[in-house]
Amino acid sequence: MTPDQTLNVAAIGAFFGLVIFAALVGLLAAVYVAVCRAIDTRKARQAAHAQQPETEPIDAIDDVVAVALAGACCEPWWATCGLHHAHTCPTTMKD
Ligand SMILES: [Zn+2]
Repeated sequence: MTPDQTLNVAAIGAFFGLVIFAALVGLLAAVYVAVCRAIDTRKARQAAHAQQPETEPIDAIDDVVAVALAGACCEPWWATCGLHHAHTCPTTMKD
């Protein structure tokens, strides 16, 4: 290998080394920007969530129980899951 060939190999190696280094720097910069955006988005969501007023959690079971208690009228109604009423039940008297 002549000195000129050695110089060419070194120059090509240095060139590809710089290309790889630049690609790594670009990749790290892109990752850094993405992480910063994710952090900003999370902070914005937390701030928006903190500004919302607290609401009572909806408990479907409590609603079902409230409706059932509102419709309760007599003992047979409870025993038959709402199919039958007692003869003295006000609901039966309406019909
Ligand atoms: Zn009844």
